[in-house]
Amino acid sequence: MTHFADFLQSALRESFFNLTLYTVFGIAVFGLVWKGLKNVWRWRRIQPKSEQRKHFFSHDILFSFGSILMAGFLTALITLLDQFGYMKLYWDINAYGTTWGILQLFFLLFFYDAYFYWSHRFMHHPKIYRWVHKTHHKSTDPSPLTIFAFHPFENLIEFLPFLVLPMFIPIFWPILFLWQTLDLINNLLAHLGYEIYPKNWLRLPFLKYKTASTHHNMHHEKFNGNYGLYFTFWDKWMKTEFSDYADRFQSIEKK
Ligand SMILES: [Zn+2]
Ligand SMILES: [Zn+2]
Repeated sequence: MTHFADFLQSALRESFFNLTLYTVFGIAVFGLVWKGLKNVWRWRRIQPKSEQRKHFFSHDILFSFGSILMAGFLTALITLLDQFGYMKLYWDINAYGTTWGILQLFFLLFFYDAYFYWSHRFMHHPKIYRWVHKTHHKSTDPSPLTIFAFHPFENLIEFLPFLVLPMFIPIFWPILFLWQTLDLINNLLAHLGYEIYPKNWLRLPFLKYKTASTHHNMHHEKFNGNYGLYFTFWDKWMKTEFSDYADRFQSIEKK
């Protein structure tokens, strides 16, 4: 009973934290960029002619609240499993060597990128799409309000690696937090609706493989391509990258 009460308290605390994140990165950034900087950054708009309707915003906010609560419970579950000794999460950087302490971040980013690409394509399967992933695609012109707008089942799919990987692989707690932070920033940029990467981004060695804001924005607009999350490798290998991605990116940056 005590464990249950602790779990519930931890879940509510995590949900409140997620609500704070959404208030800052979702609602406040939406207010700042989509309202405050609307005219100043007009040239950075990825879909300048979009006819975004208000009810898409409320739809995204509504489903985000569900995600906030669900992610709160799943995060509390990580802590609970850790307390019961089911997790290989650790605080001492020397416990598994500093090399692994640093390399694991790259492993996690590349692993999750591959996981996201394939689970994302799975959710786009015509027989599955309308039951789960359609919720996230309501906004064909995504905004910061879309960052947590997921169906509960999609939430579970996307959260699963955060829950399961630390059961099998030693993960340094600060790296887990860093991964989650980078994931949140990437999520925000992907749904910003404005391109803020530098204009020579797609010509930079290696960095050009990091998805620019236009990459995921085009996925919301056209659906059947650009499935990647952090990097463009999988879309290039599987030939699912929109052929006009680079041109589109350049056209925004030239305005
Ligand atoms: Zn999708
Ligand atoms: Zn999206």
